[in-house]
Amino acid sequence: MTHSSGSGFDTLVVAGERLARYGFGDGHPFGTDRHAAFYREFESRGLDRQVRVLPTRAASREDLLSFHTAEYVDLLRERSVSGQGCLDAGDTPAYRGVYEAAADVVGATLLATEFIMSGQARRGFVPIAGLHHAARAGAAGFCALNDCGVAIEVLKRRHGLTRIAYVDIDAHHGDGVFYAFEDDPAVVFADLHEDGRYLYPGTGSADEIGRGAARGTKLNIPLPPGADDAAFGKAWPAVLAHLEAFEPEFILLQCGADSVAGDPIAHLRFSAGVHREAARDLKSLAERLGHGRLLATGGGGYHRGNLAEAWTGVVESLLE
Ligand SMILES: [Zn+2]
Repeated sequence: MTHSSGSGFDTLVVAGERLARYGFGDGHPFGTDRHAAFYREFESRGLDRQVRVLPTRAASREDLLSFHTAEYVDLLRERSVSGQGCLDAGDTPAYRGVYEAAADVVGATLLATEFIMSGQARRGFVPIAGLHHAARAGAAGFCALNDCGVAIEVLKRRHGLTRIAYVDIDAHHGDGVFYAFEDDPAVVFADLHEDGRYLYPGTGSADEIGRGAARGTKLNIPLPPGADDAAFGKAWPAVLAHLEAFEPEFILLQCGADSVAGDPIAHLRFSAGVHREAARDLKSLAERLGHGRLLATGGGGYHRGNLAEAWTGVVESLLE
């Protein structure tokens, strides 16, 4: 591994016990053991000594309200106290403390965002974050809050950015981000995912390109079940070209590992090398654009070995 950028401390990883609390019990695919699966591999490769590691902190209610509705934030708080029922139609159960745990995930993404914007870090990675299904007014698909959505709003409102890229290589379409910003030209969106005819959430067809003033700022590339590295290699240049055309001021990458072969709930067949390559290319693009700002989030991924390999590969790419 090389350190052409001088110091590995250009890279921030937000991780630790508090972030690990977000997850569901009773054999749910999104269990709280996902953080440890990543962190063991991260330590065994010595990456913890090459990056700055910080614990998360809670996102404030005000932070959450930059993206989510007050009604939904209040509902999440109530269900978090009772620990009863579901947060959506059935995929995302409530549990005691889910509000605090989810606000810590949002806080991790915001902490990394603030470090990058202030120049204290050049790029970052946050495992567990990348909760891309949550909508402004509700939970969905294991996502109680949408940390990416909140970060995009914060980049717009507090930092005045007008071109923010969101790239998503999770097997599932990033519907929570897509529909929240479908008519917002400031959000340059590119999403490779398993075709919605075969996989939750069923959206993200190629003709969904953004609405109104945002028409043409969104790129959705559905792939058939079984799509492998060759299929990724064919589709990926279009993602890079789409981003290049808009010269984004900040790049968010949701690198869900459920697109790697062997995931128990999705059917793409990428190798973990895809995640490494995506991070490497987006890092190069951010550097070419002159700012270097890249924040990767873990996203989905339910095979523990796959997520450990894909996510540590992403961190290694950030360090190259
Ligand atoms: Zn997913």
